[in-house]
Amino acid sequence: MPDARLLGVAGFPVGHSRSPVMHAAALRELGLPWRYLKLPLPPELFAETVRALPAAGYVGVNVTVPHKEAALEVADSPTPTAGAIGAANTLTFTEHGIEADNTDAPGLIAALGEPVAGRRALVLGAGGAGRAAAWALREAGAEVSVWNRTPGRGRDLAAELRIGYARRAAGASDVVVNATSVGLVPDVREQQALEALGLREGEPPATLVDLVYSERETALTAWARQGGSAVVDGLEVLVRQGALSLERWTGRRPPLAAMRAAAVHGGLDIR
Ligand code: NAP
Repeated sequence: MPDARLLGVAGFPVGHSRSPVMHAAALRELGLPWRYLKLPLPPELFAETVRALPAAGYVGVNVTVPHKEAALEVADSPTPTAGAIGAANTLTFTEHGIEADNTDAPGLIAALGEPVAGRRALVLGAGGAGRAAAWALREAGAEVSVWNRTPGRGRDLAAELRIGYARRAAGASDVVVNATSVGLVPDVREQQALEALGLREGEPPATLVDLVYSERETALTAWARQGGSAVVDGLEVLVRQGALSLERWTGRRPPLAAMRAAAVHGGLDIR
């Protein structure tokens, strides 16, 4: 293996990603002379480029939108988690081939930092992030339901994962996870966000997770904090999934504080 070991994040676009600054801080802290690069890959080049990465010195890559399903397909061996979710965010190049894992799911549970077994959890959104979140919470023993703006998509996910489908988002849930893109635009007003997510009539839950991350507090986390909820923001989830990927690649304990500081202060973009 070449000396200069490489890691990276493959996406399209990928310019906004905070993973490079976060992983660079972690590698510095660990004293590893590795580099973590941005890999902007259009979909038609994804598989062939990934297959060429090990020979170029790559140990592994994170994978983000729109390649998470393709990452599973290109792999020689998926972990049970990646296989069950149907998407991978972490590829590791080994002598046995390409291994695919999904650290979004355990990253969410780690970020929550509290047991969810037996608690009522509601996932807002039935896209890729909603699917990983619902699967993770179900595996952790929560009583999970999903709500989605487009009901058919929400019902399909609920049927597939054998979880509940919530016709209303507002109501009695202990843990609410926003896995929609509502809040991605930084100046969205609180009432607009609550309206879009069907939460306007409800009380904030005991715990709110907003997977969206932003320079400033999102409208949803501000609402929840004011209402007394325990709040987990999207950056914490990003840090935890990144930490699990880094541990997989390096075998070292990830320096969470350095990663968190870099993710919070090191990026200029909002996603
Ligand atoms: P996706 O597959 O495109 O799904 C988008 C979801 O948002 C769908 O459920 C969609 O509902 C919903 N949505 C979009 N606009 C909406 C609106 N105006 N009102 C209500 N619902 C709306 O995207 P994704 O990959 O799941 O990502 C979702 C979010 O999670 C993104 O903001 C992403 O940045 C974030 N994320 C964060 C992390 C992290 O580590 N923190 C990791 C992954 C993703 P319809 O089905 O009705 O269109």
